[in-house]
Amino acid sequence: MKNITVRTDSQCSGCGACLSVCGTSAIHLELNQLGYYQANVDESKCVNCGSCQTVCARFFEEPSGVDIRTSSVFALQSIHPVTIKRCSSGGAAHEIAKWALSHGYLLCGAEYDLETNTVKHVITDDIRLLDGSKYLQSDTSVFSEVIHRAMNGKCFVIFGVPCHIAGLARAAELKKCRDKLFLVEIFCHGVPTYKLWNKECALVKKKLKCSRFDEVLFRYKKFGWHSYCLQFRKKDKFYYGSREKDLFYRVYFEDILLNGACLGCRARQETSLADIRLGDYWGKRYQGRDDGVSVAFCNNEKAADLMTQLSIQQLQVGTAEEVLSCQNMEGYHCQALHDKTMEVLVKEGIEAAIRYYRARLPIKQKIKNIVLFVLSLLPYEIRAGLRKLR
Ligand SMILES: Cc1cc2nc3c(=O)[nH]c(=O)nc-3n(C[C@H](O)[C@H](O)[C@H](O)COP(=O)(O)OP(=O)(O)OC[C@H]3O[C@@H](n4cnc5c(N)ncnc54)[C@H](O)[C@@H]3O)c2cc1C
Ligand code: SF4
Ligand code: SF4
Repeated sequence: MKNITVRTDSQCSGCGACLSVCGTSAIHLELNQLGYYQANVDESKCVNCGSCQTVCARFFEEPSGVDIRTSSVFALQSIHPVTIKRCSSGGAAHEIAKWALSHGYLLCGAEYDLETNTVKHVITDDIRLLDGSKYLQSDTSVFSEVIHRAMNGKCFVIFGVPCHIAGLARAAELKKCRDKLFLVEIFCHGVPTYKLWNKECALVKKKLKCSRFDEVLFRYKKFGWHSYCLQFRKKDKFYYGSREKDLFYRVYFEDILLNGACLGCRARQETSLADIRLGDYWGKRYQGRDDGVSVAFCNNEKAADLMTQLSIQQLQVGTAEEVLSCQNMEGYHCQALHDKTMEVLVKEGIEAAIRYYRARLPIKQKIKNIVLFVLSLLPYEIRAGLRKLR
């Protein structure tokens, strides 16, 4: 067999690159029993051409691309306060999307599907659908259409996490249409299992007494940029979940239930195949701000030139090293606990899995959890004050 199934020692990230280059539509994405999208091959359709292997990160020893430590760095904020409020950091992605539509590009990014409570990539001209980070794995099946249309001359601006963008860049190189794609990736912490999200949704549905939400926002800035406030809305009823108290965010930031591919992910590190990498401008410089500031690493001249054409104000910026020191670039060291927890997840379900790994967390992490819990008991204003003092 000359397809992606021969690689069993590392996990699929669901980046969508393999299906976008498969000439016989033999590959599709499906949620697996652990709650992650992964690529599956219909062997009856596979012609063993090997194209999927040439674009899949799991078949490369070393990642290729630009070292973002040498890129031009910008600190950005949309000039529209409403946009900053809707977006996760400073609204840079929104302004790039607006520029793209007004310059004849098609737009592809991640939207939240209220029917299924999942995230999926779509081609759209409704920028508002894409606004805001959704901290879940996105179904990237639409990348097949993106590559097909790019091969037929259509130009796209595409947003995604680094594994999506690196995969698409390789797919576009293979199909000789890389020049049709402008690729924007976001810094990435990793994605948690949908089993956790389903549990969260079930709990909130009970609280709001509903079977479907009217709106879900992952970074609603009710208490400012740093607050990671989940907002669920049903008509005029709201549920707010904080990073300190909410089941979803607490488990997400404990890292054990991230996709296996995220633990060893190299796409999220310093080497990038994107034109731009965007993120939150974390760190001391903008610690005291509550509205949100984006950071952009521009990996080529075209990307740096774009920064002067957006409805955006450029703020004072530090060095690439300064910005990267506030991001988790080194990755995770919890593979063994993750693997054991996955066994519990399959056999006994999400609650048992959380209990299992929490009992085995290193002491440092346990202390951090207790501190977060104590902080969660303080009023928001005091927490914000403490943060500014740090
Ligand atoms: C899973 C995940 C983990 C992240 N981890 C970090 C991190 O560790 N450090 C950091 O600085 N920033 C991280 N971010 C990025 C951050 O949340 C902001 O997206 C970034 O600062 C840009 O903000 P913005 O205001 O310009 O755009 P936003 O309004 O946040 O829009 C971001 C763009 O990302 C796309 N997008 C949204 N959700 C997803 C998704 N699930 N998968 C793929 N694409 C998506 C949308 O299409 C949109 O165009 C993460 C984002 C996600 C989705
Ligand atoms: S990691 Fe990406 S390219 Fe590799 S099998 Fe999974 S979806 Fe396909
Ligand atoms: S950590 Fe890596 S593999 Fe996981 S979603 Fe982010 S970019 Fe993809």
